[in-house]
Amino acid sequence: MAEKRNRKPPAGNTLAARLTRLGLRTDADFILHLPLRYEDETRITPIAAAIPGVPAQFEVEVLTSEIAFRPRRQLVARVRDASGTLTLRFLNFYPSQQKVLQPGARLRLFGELRDSFLGDEMIHPRFHAVAADAPLPQTLTPVYPTTACLGQGSLRRLVSRALERGDLGDTLPADVLAQMELPAFAAAIRFLHTPPPGVSAAMLESRQHPAWRRVQFDELLAQQLSLRRAYTARRARGAPQLAATGTLTRRLLAALPFRLTGAQQRAWQEIAADLARPHPMQRLLQGDVGSGKTIVAALAMLQAVEAGHQAALMAPTEILAEQHYRKLAAWLAPLGIEVAWLSGSLKKSEKTAVARKVGAGDTPIVIGTHALIEDGVEFARLGLAIVDEQHRFGVRQRLALKEKGRFAHQLTMSATPIPRTLAMSYYADLDVSVLDELPPGRTPVTTKLVAEARRDEVIARVHAACRAGGQAYWVCPLIEESEVLQLKTAEETYARLAAELPDLRVGLVHGRLKAEDKAAVMAAFAANEIHLLVATTVIEVGVDVQNASLMVIEHAERFGLAQLHQLRGRVGRGARASACILIYAQPLGETARARLKVIYENSDGFEIAREDLRLRGPGEFIGARQSGLPLLRYADLEDTVMVEQARHLADTLLRDAPEIAAAHLERWLGGRAELLKA
Ligand code: ADP
Ligand code: MG
Repeated sequence: MAEKRNRKPPAGNTLAARLTRLGLRTDADFILHLPLRYEDETRITPIAAAIPGVPAQFEVEVLTSEIAFRPRRQLVARVRDASGTLTLRFLNFYPSQQKVLQPGARLRLFGELRDSFLGDEMIHPRFHAVAADAPLPQTLTPVYPTTACLGQGSLRRLVSRALERGDLGDTLPADVLAQMELPAFAAAIRFLHTPPPGVSAAMLESRQHPAWRRVQFDELLAQQLSLRRAYTARRARGAPQLAATGTLTRRLLAALPFRLTGAQQRAWQEIAADLARPHPMQRLLQGDVGSGKTIVAALAMLQAVEAGHQAALMAPTEILAEQHYRKLAAWLAPLGIEVAWLSGSLKKSEKTAVARKVGAGDTPIVIGTHALIEDGVEFARLGLAIVDEQHRFGVRQRLALKEKGRFAHQLTMSATPIPRTLAMSYYADLDVSVLDELPPGRTPVTTKLVAEARRDEVIARVHAACRAGGQAYWVCPLIEESEVLQLKTAEETYARLAAELPDLRVGLVHGRLKAEDKAAVMAAFAANEIHLLVATTVIEVGVDVQNASLMVIEHAERFGLAQLHQLRGRVGRGARASACILIYAQPLGETARARLKVIYENSDGFEIAREDLRLRGPGEFIGARQSGLPLLRYADLEDTVMVEQARHLADTLLRDAPEIAAAHLERWLGGRAELLKA
């Protein structure tokens, strides 16, 4: 049989592929592909007037040009204008370039002058030959974001073609523009692609110019419109009204060894009210590590069950899901409610059995990992789907869940607080409940930074804490490149600590353990049969062992802020004074140092998230790349005034002029609009 061979050139090599990587497909895409910065080639600077380090254009005549070999092969040319002379140096060059640099040739150079021992010189200036009296460009030269193998020249041509034939019509009503003192779209766009001479490049690059503000506002408006549209679409869908009598929830509350905090009470009421409405709830329950989200989830699930529906709770890791399962089962069994467990590690036959019961509606509550949303699991009457630490799931899984829960209420829970500005924009489609209060009796965690050389002192401290009846975690370094290496490190650390601390019981847990082994280790730790638990980051989220009072993190400089905060939140849950020891290796990079400083100085999750946002920028922060959300390219989320204005106008347009809203969205999101629904 003839085998079909794929003869296409390797993907990524064609012009189209390169453009796709930049998100450039339609005219509108090119029109909105705005310059990063500008070069001023509208003026000629005399050599004598050049300021070192400031890019400028010169017009010169070549005096000499030769290939020198000291210290290595390079092309060196001497050039002059009426005011002085200059050396040009090229460490890499093409023969074609060498050809242009002939004595007597007239050139325009663009670049920065620098002082050297041998007088003024320029390294790798951009240059081209010109005729005498050649006219100067009439606009600043835009420099576009680009990718390998796609030159500025080609991009400029593509953009200017799009500007000629594309639609530059305005999507904003004239009165809005007047009121906000914004320029028309066409004017703003032409200005930004081709600014007239005399405009300060610095002013443009600071993005404070009204033309930039117009673009930023447009972008925020598009974002708000699409979020609002998703919100409205959801409101138009129906969901079962989970109105309940409150018998079960009251019984659970009465059986708890604690009372809900004010914040838990509030969140629970908000959720209960949503569940009773005929449209799908989409609510985020946000609360710092340890704020007590699980009990709120349990109450919500009970309300669904009381109303005759099923509820599911999905967690990103097996350990966390298992822990939820245990906790929920312990809370709900006394009420006579069965809780089922479903995870990828179950035997196929077991999985099928659970799926069958879920499908028949025989199980009111199911807890598990993403196995819950896999094919073959169909709920008979899903009323409420809860996702813990949703940001840790992939896009595909989130979409699958969304599909599955289209007509169910949804609650997501997160300990990664979202700063207000992000909440207003990226999460505008969600209703949010916040647990801004920790349960009473928590002890603040002391954070210590310790250089690696003092590891022995840390071990002594672990020893003392465990001998005094406490327990400790020892988190092994994150090794991004290799899971195998990470595992190896964890095993070595475990062996070493076990040898160094012979009178303590040391345990090891990592992602590669079989689910039942993992569960057994965690159960032993929870029962205080293990003193010191060596772990990889599998324990990052949600693990709750109140007696643990010491958290050691090795190579803390490799962890992100959110992770460090999560890990630190594993301790300080009981009455015991707790500490988190961050061991770091030197030398510390600048950002690693900044991160450690933030975690050392702050214990409040919101503050840490704010700093994280500042250090990483909004795109990285929300994991936008994985989530498929388009990043804001031009607008600044910190500009709360503008975000508010965009939000307000989005509402008005959707109500009074949906066709304008549609045109605006098409321009800004085009084919990407679909992604936003994820
Ligand atoms: P998280 O918000 O991080 O998911 P958990 O739901 O795991 O927090 O709760 C952390 C711990 O606090 C658990 O042991 C839980 O039982 C306990 N807890 C929750 N609410 C209260 C409360 N109101 N009073 C005392 N302890 C509480
Ligand atoms: Mg939790």
